[in-house]
Amino acid sequence: MPFDIIRDLIKDGGQIWAHCGPPCWHSRNLDLHALGERLGYDFEVSHYSLTPKLRCSKCGSKQVGIRHIPAAGHRAPGIVDGKLIW
Ligand SMILES: [Zn+2]
Repeated sequence: MPFDIIRDLIKDGGQIWAHCGPPCWHSRNLDLHALGERLGYDFEVSHYSLTPKLRCSKCGSKQVGIRHIPAAGHRAPGIVDGKLIW
């Protein structure tokens, strides 16, 4: 599941959450600016490119998954300047 480059994720205001597997289930919102500094802002974020670089800060496991949460309002219809957009 391809996402985007880090620069675009920051621009769009979306978030990447990393979550550990059982029995830990620790999850955390990744700091995209810190990731950009470390991996480069043109780093293409995908499950396969990013998860090998992550490690759970709670239990040390490398069985970490990621989820992309788009910025609120990007998908749902909304009212902007009196107009309905979607
Ligand atoms: Zn963990």
